[in-house]
Amino acid sequence: MKFSKNDIIEVKIEDIGVNGEGIGKADGFPIFVKDAIVSDYARVRITKSANTYAYARLEEILEPSPLRVTPKCPVAKACGGCQIQEMDYKAQLAFKKNKVKNNIERIAKITDFEIEDTIGMDEPYYYRNKAQYPVGEDKDGNIIMGFYAGRTHSIIPCEDCIIGDAVNGDILRIIKSFMKEFAVRPYNEQTGKGLIRHILIRKGFKTGEIMVCIVINGTKLNHAEILVERLKQINGMTSISLNVNKENTNVILGNKVINLYGEGYITDYIGLVKFHISPLSFYQVNPVQTHILYGKVLEFAGLTGKETVWDLYCGVGTISLFLAKLAKEVYGVEIIPEAIEDARNNARINNISNASFFVGKAEEVLPEYYEKQHHNGNYATADVIVVDPPRKGCDERLLATVVKMQPKKIVYVSCDSATLARDLKFLVENGYEVGRVQPVDMFPHTTHVETVVMLSHKKLTV
Ligand code: SAH
Repeated sequence: MKFSKNDIIEVKIEDIGVNGEGIGKADGFPIFVKDAIVSDYARVRITKSANTYAYARLEEILEPSPLRVTPKCPVAKACGGCQIQEMDYKAQLAFKKNKVKNNIERIAKITDFEIEDTIGMDEPYYYRNKAQYPVGEDKDGNIIMGFYAGRTHSIIPCEDCIIGDAVNGDILRIIKSFMKEFAVRPYNEQTGKGLIRHILIRKGFKTGEIMVCIVINGTKLNHAEILVERLKQINGMTSISLNVNKENTNVILGNKVINLYGEGYITDYIGLVKFHISPLSFYQVNPVQTHILYGKVLEFAGLTGKETVWDLYCGVGTISLFLAKLAKEVYGVEIIPEAIEDARNNARINNISNASFFVGKAEEVLPEYYEKQHHNGNYATADVIVVDPPRKGCDERLLATVVKMQPKKIVYVSCDSATLARDLKFLVENGYEVGRVQPVDMFPHTTHVETVVMLSHKKLTV
C-alpha cells in the first residue's frame, strides 16, 4: 500500500468517477476524492487505502477549478441527495453525456454512433414534484426533518430543499409545530418507539394540487382533524392521508393508507395525458423533463397511427398512454399489479381504448405471448418495442424475444447507462443498429442520467 490513512497529499483532479467523485493521481496512483471536481488542485486526507487506489477527503482547495460554483444549498455537501451541486450546470450536462458515451464505447464496444448533447433544464432547481422527508430528533431531543446524509440514516435537517417545491418547507413547519403542541414524538429507528416516520409530499405541477401523506408507526394520529384544518390553509391542498408502517424496515411506505381529506389522489398532466396519483403510485419526479423524455420516445418511435407498439416495464402506463394517441394499439407490461390498476384507470380517464395492460415479468409475459401466437400459427408482430427497465436493465430472455419479434424499431429508455450498454451489445449482435442516443437530465445536481436510444433493424429498414 502506497499511502496510509490520514496521510495528507496534494493532487490535481483530472477526471470524474461514476458517482461524481473527483479522481486525481499521486505517483500514478488513482485517488478518489469526494466533493472534488475536475481541475481542482487540492490538499486531501487519505481515508482509505487499497493496493491499487485510495479514497480521500478534501482538506483544502488550493486552486479551485474554473468549473466550480458555490452550491445554492447550504447542506449540499452533507446531504446525500445531490452529489455534484458544486459543479457548473453546463459541466454537469457534459459529464452526463460523457458517462453515457464512455459506457457505450467501453461496454457495448460500439464506436460508430452519434450522441446528442444532454438536454438540460432552463431552471435546474425546484424541479421535483415529490419529496420524502424523514422525521427524527437531534441529540437535544428537538424534532428534525430533512434528508439522509450519504450512505447513512443520520438526518441532515433541511426543510427548504432547493430541488424540491418551495411549498414543502411551509408544510413541514405546520406539521412540526403541531407535533410540538400535541407532544407527538418522531419515530426512532433504534428503539422502534415514536410515531411519525416520514412525510411524503407530492405536487401536480400543471394543476397545482398538493398531497401530504404522513407515515406513522401506528394506526392513529390524535388530533389529526386539527392538523388537517391547518394544512388545508395551504393553497392547492387536495389530499391528506396517513400511511401505516409499523415494520422495522428501510422501506418508507407501508401498504395501508388512511384517508383524512380529499379523494385519496391528486391529478396531474404530462402533455395532454391526465394522471391520478395516489400516495403509493409511481410517478416520474421531474415532470418538465419527463415531458421532454417522452417527446423523444415519440419522435424516435416515428408513429403514423398504424403501428402495434409494446411498452415493456410500463409502470402506471405513462409512456403507453403517451404513444397510444398516435398508434394503432399499445400493449403495456408491468410487474406491480397496483401500477397496472393505475394504468388501466389512467387509460379510462383519458378515454384511451387502444391500450391494454398485462401484469407480470416482461421476460415471462412477452416470451409466453410470442410462443402462444407462434403455436397458433400466427406471427406475434410488433412495429415498435419500447423498454424502460429499472437499473438492472433487461433480462436476456426478454431481449431474445424482442429480437425474434423483429420490430422495425426499438426505443430503449434507460436510467443506468452501464446496463443500457450491455443490452445494446446484445441487440447490435442480433440484427439492430444504434441510430440516435439522447441523454436527458432528469435529476440535475445528481450523477444520474436518463438516456433514450433509437435502434433500427438493419434489414427491415434498408
Ligand atoms: N415506463 C414507466 C416506468 C419505468 S420504471 C414510466 O416512465 O413512468 C421501471 C418499471 O419496471 C417499474 O414500474 C417497475 O415496477 C417495473 N419492473 C421491474 N422489473 C420488472 C420486470 N421484470 N418486468 C416488468 N416490469 C418490471
